[in-house]
Amino acid sequence: MRIIMLGAPGAGKGTQAEKIAEKYGLPHISTGDIFRRNIKEGTALGKEAKSYMDEGKLVPDELTVRLLLDRTAADDCKKGYILDGFPRTIPQAEALDTELKKLGEIIDYAIDVEVPDENIIKRMSGRRACPKCGATYHTEFIPPKKENICDECGEALIIRDDDKPETVANRLKVYHEQTQPLIDYYDKKNILHTVDGTQDVQDVFKAVTSILE
Ligand code: ADP
Ligand code: AMP
Repeated sequence: MRIIMLGAPGAGKGTQAEKIAEKYGLPHISTGDIFRRNIKEGTALGKEAKSYMDEGKLVPDELTVRLLLDRTAADDCKKGYILDGFPRTIPQAEALDTELKKLGEIIDYAIDVEVPDENIIKRMSGRRACPKCGATYHTEFIPPKKENICDECGEALIIRDDDKPETVANRLKVYHEQTQPLIDYYDKKNILHTVDGTQDVQDVFKAVTSILE
């Protein structure tokens, strides 16, 4: 099963992708997480990606597509995967389609997690991330058991550099201009499903699993 999570930054794609990954035993592939790992490790890819990410811009398609196709070619992706944060532009979606066609594979579901911009600002301002294991929390909606400490691995939580208010506004603008057209793209392929992302995490997940079952 191959699944694409669509939605604005902060809509809850990663939160749901993690739960789908656990329930169905599929790898959760987040291009944002891969870039952040490279930044942390100080790789050349990380340095290049950081300059775009810090401004709320998209990393160029060529670089992102290469990275993603490398990842989906790995053995653990043979039975499927969940893409979170990819594709983010029509050329990225087309590049993925071209590769899938070569392999005789298809995307089974594109799930759009719908959340209005007003809620997004609140979600991203309260987001806290674990720099070690990648778990995501929210100060108000999904707080860790111990303040600012990751439940999973005990690491101190951080605020993502690109979750600053001025960057969030830019990321939303980029989303509406470059990523939202993908909703129509996958609708035309008859694989688009929409869930109301303003509900609490468990209810969004119920809606997601009812699509997948
Ligand atoms: P995305 O991957 O789409 O950028 P995240 O999954 O990181 O979004 O979620 C953004 C923020 O909102 C995080 O702080 C997360 O804990 C919180 N969040 C996710 N889903 C919900 C929800 N259904 N209700 C309230 N907060 C949520
Ligand atoms: P995310 O973790 O999905 O919110 O992504 C964080 C940032 O990484 C984005 O704002 C972009 O700068 C970059 N990024 C992640 N995925 C992509 C992608 N598919 N295309 C271009 N840039 C991306």
